[in-house]
Amino acid sequence: MPCEIRHAEARGILTPTCGFIAEAGFTHSLSPARNCTFGCTYCYVPTMGIYGGLKPADWQHWGRFTTFKANAAELLEKALRPDQIIYCSPLVDPYQPAEAEERLMPRMLDALIAHPPRVFVIQTRGPLILRDLEKLEALNALTRLRVSFSITTDRDDVRQLYEPLCASIPERICVVRRLRERGIATYATLAPLLPSNPEELVDMVIEATDRDIVADPFHVRAIKRSGATTRHAARRISEKRGYIQWHEPEFQAEMVERMRRRAERAGRRFGTGTRAFGWLAEVNP
Ligand code: SF4
Repeated sequence: MPCEIRHAEARGILTPTCGFIAEAGFTHSLSPARNCTFGCTYCYVPTMGIYGGLKPADWQHWGRFTTFKANAAELLEKALRPDQIIYCSPLVDPYQPAEAEERLMPRMLDALIAHPPRVFVIQTRGPLILRDLEKLEALNALTRLRVSFSITTDRDDVRQLYEPLCASIPERICVVRRLRERGIATYATLAPLLPSNPEELVDMVIEATDRDIVADPFHVRAIKRSGATTRHAARRISEKRGYIQWHEPEFQAEMVERMRRRAERAGRRFGTGTRAFGWLAEVNP
């Protein structure tokens, strides 16, 4: 699907962290673009308003275009330091569909290879990451590179409802396997937890990865009183399709507990919130 690509000069590229990401242990976040052409129905980013430099057009037309930071690679080259623990990205998928044409990430990876930070985490759901395998392997030899790959459900019919522009679940599992085969630490991140069979989802990712499992249910106001939350579009889908319990804290806790038991029986850590996201930032795991 064609995506509208815009460009803007950025003043900075590495942002000192605060809140959830800082509590997890990251020192900086890196967002190569504003607005994400995956356009997931639940994405919490547009609910943050102007946070992170978002403009009104971004949250009003989430996913319909993206604005790349034209000078991102040059800025990154100058901003990198060896003690940084960087999360890429809390605001956009670095391997969103528009990146296929833009090819910004290879230039970012070149800057990282030239000046490796202490830890670099890529949060994505995009099979496009495989395009950059050689550069990822080079970076992996120089720093603690981790890929946190989003696997949101075991059911592709559910995936199509909530994230129709994302790759299918079987394709994502193949990408996780390919990254793992190339020696890259690849985590399955079950966030947000979409309607699924909890045991089958855990079994699927245990088979694909050799890492701990990070999860997070839909953000809901009953628990998270302020800040980013689930977009209404996802809640409307859940109401219409009979999945509204996946937004209810008690049901969420029950699903998380079932998944935790299944994962721990297989010898894996399973967690949610900053504790689990913190595993991605660990300097000495
Ligand atoms: S891939 Fe991530 S950042 Fe992009 S729309 Fe989906 S949830 Fe939001």
